Amino acid sequence: MKQYLKLDPWSIVEERFDPHSHVVSESVFSIGNGHMGQRANFEEAYSGQSLQGSYMAGVYYPDKTRVGWWKNGYPEYFAKVLNATNWIGLDVRFGEEQLDLARCEAMEFRRELNMKEGYLRRAFVARFPSGKAVRVDATRFVSIVAKEIGAVRYSVTPLNFDGQMQLTLFLDGDVKNKDANYDEQFWDEVLTENTALSASVLVKTKKLDFQVCSTMRYGIEQDGRQVQPAAELVTRTKYAAHAITLPVRQNQATVAYKYVANVTSRDHAGESLLAVSKAVLDAAYARGFDALLDEHAQAWDHKWQESDIIIDGDVAAQQGIRFNIFQLNQTYSGEDPRLNIGPKGFTGEKYGGSTYWDTEAFCLPFFLSTAEPHIARNLLIYRYRHLEQARENARKLGFTKGALYPMVTMNGEECHNEWEITFEEIHRNGAIAYAIYNYVNYTGDQAYLGEYGLEVLVEISRFWAERVQFAPHKGYVLLGVTGPNEYENNVNNNWYTNRIAAWTLAYTLETLAGLEGADPARYTDLVDTLGLLPGETARWQEIIAHMYYPMDGERGIFLQQDGFLDKDLTPVRELDPRHLPINQKWSWDRILRSCYIKQADVLQGLYFLGDQYDLATKQRNFDFYEPITVHESSLSPCVHCILACELGYREKAYEMYLRTSRLDLDNYNNDTEDGLHITSMGGTWMSVVQGFGGLRARDGKLVLNPFIPGHWESFSFKVMFRGARLLVTVKQDHLEITNETGTGCHLTVRGSDHFLTGKAMLNVPLR
Ligand code: BGC
Repeated sequence: MKQYLKLDPWSIVEERFDPHSHVVSESVFSIGNGHMGQRANFEEAYSGQSLQGSYMAGVYYPDKTRVGWWKNGYPEYFAKVLNATNWIGLDVRFGEEQLDLARCEAMEFRRELNMKEGYLRRAFVARFPSGKAVRVDATRFVSIVAKEIGAVRYSVTPLNFDGQMQLTLFLDGDVKNKDANYDEQFWDEVLTENTALSASVLVKTKKLDFQVCSTMRYGIEQDGRQVQPAAELVTRTKYAAHAITLPVRQNQATVAYKYVANVTSRDHAGESLLAVSKAVLDAAYARGFDALLDEHAQAWDHKWQESDIIIDGDVAAQQGIRFNIFQLNQTYSGEDPRLNIGPKGFTGEKYGGSTYWDTEAFCLPFFLSTAEPHIARNLLIYRYRHLEQARENARKLGFTKGALYPMVTMNGEECHNEWEITFEEIHRNGAIAYAIYNYVNYTGDQAYLGEYGLEVLVEISRFWAERVQFAPHKGYVLLGVTGPNEYENNVNNNWYTNRIAAWTLAYTLETLAGLEGADPARYTDLVDTLGLLPGETARWQEIIAHMYYPMDGERGIFLQQDGFLDKDLTPVRELDPRHLPINQKWSWDRILRSCYIKQADVLQGLYFLGDQYDLATKQRNFDFYEPITVHESSLSPCVHCILACELGYREKAYEMYLRTSRLDLDNYNNDTEDGLHITSMGGTWMSVVQGFGGLRARDGKLVLNPFIPGHWESFSFKVMFRGARLLVTVKQDHLEITNETGTGCHLTVRGSDHFLTGKAMLNVPLR
């Protein structure tokens, strides 16, 4: 673990240029606005190690599958998030010398991701081999107000010379994905246009015909005044640039403002893209950099009002949580139900930018509590729209009924291609069902069930009913599965999977009965449409009653899977630290045979279904499993933090909190260079609100059971719940809850019930 970033409550700051950390920093300092985003690549040339990444939401490429040994049922392609046109690019030269921090000496380097206002700034002095030195100050952002607009302000000041500067501002669509399976380029040119006023590059994907048009305009200032040097227009395939030469003087800043509109055929008709991008750009250009940044910063201020968490007395913890909230809000804004949250968001290529169970299991609660209900609903609708593909997926694997949602998807089709995950990690279906429960339980939106939710639940239940088989000496079993702990494959009776399967069946039956009572006409309609037979639901009852769960009576624990206790159970703390992370140090064979757990598995179930298990059960399982868990999935520490809070394991809870919230800032798992762990950031938010805050939604009430780490002065968070917005502040000796709205809210705080209305405040002692 390496701590090279400065602690600061509102910014991520790097005060030295370290080429070895650069690829990690490119991830950490990423910016995005839900429509597009990019790694913190330098605007100017950089010939050192770098992962170029500029991404447009929902624009992907079906890259032909590459596997060693083809298995029937594998998908034909893996959907890749696409590295798209580099629109930030510019090139600075003085004669023969090019500004390139891999070749120049970098001094006074400072990079800041300002989370309060949502921009990236970088300042440094570069000394060229000739001894010439320039000061550079670069700020850029992607607007969360005008989502198709990105802007760069780039200032260069010679420090010890007068001369001529060649400045080239460009758009470059000639880019590649590092992880392309066959080293192919994914983009073809549609057109480039280059005029004295603007330059455009319009490219389309070789398959699926996604089109992206980028158009740029710029302005140049010296001594605070606009200058208009003649530009040479350079056009190549997928590339358009304006090359300018202008005289520069010692200590005089030359400031280039570059504005770019990036529009896609997802939002506009392909043939209109060029015109649309110009119109969008002209409007932004007319407003100017400062006005655009100003409205963007104000919109961020608004977002922070809704979703900030304040921790007093612990800057590392404060910076950690804000970083997570900031990156989540940069990735998904929720207005477009066709979009979802990729595990790396707009910060890297790994995981293809696709949707995993992460969204339902780890991100939904954040959006439920910090945004209007339709945002979380849109996340559910996303899966509803993919129901047909999930049915087809089940058929493809040989099931006669039901739906198996994909492990990894862009458009509903499965695109993961490792048999032990694609075919076996079926617990994902449970998370999708659980998310429906979570949403309805939190919002009270029962109508969702009749309208959309039940269709999904019935189809998932049908899948489980066909996937189980009856073993006379055990009951219903699920053979050949992979649980959330991916360090075990092809196991029998993963407790979590068996449990979430039976839970889904029970929840589906309960909601069907609820609908029958509340809206008999819709119920009949649904039963007819789905062809649901009484025999089917009777069988579900039977499975629920006789589901087999592996357990160890002596220890009083649920077993992760059949035979788990045959393993050597040496705890992680006794491993030589040089063996960690085991996924980088050990062979897969050794990992599979070991007892080490990648992420919460049994404990994931005890977290989800927390109301169904008593504290002693949770404690016995936590005490058994946590010591053999390596937390090598980013999704692990948050669940452990929440359970540790519930169990009163204060130190463990804090350790897990820091690990989840600073996972990328401190590069705990040594993999941040691939991109940030965006989906686990929802888990970080859960750690504070559900962990330290002890927040749950139960029977239309918000339940709060907070505890505060000993060295924090206070922490506070906001949650929306059924029309009310509460500000919860936890101090060492008491808890304050303010209802900021006129809508009343039922609360259970440390076991006592309250009803809090219009701006009233509740004060509860904590000791
Ligand atoms: C985890 C999965 C997760 C995926 C994407 C894997 O490392 O084990 O649970 O869905 O990453 O975040």
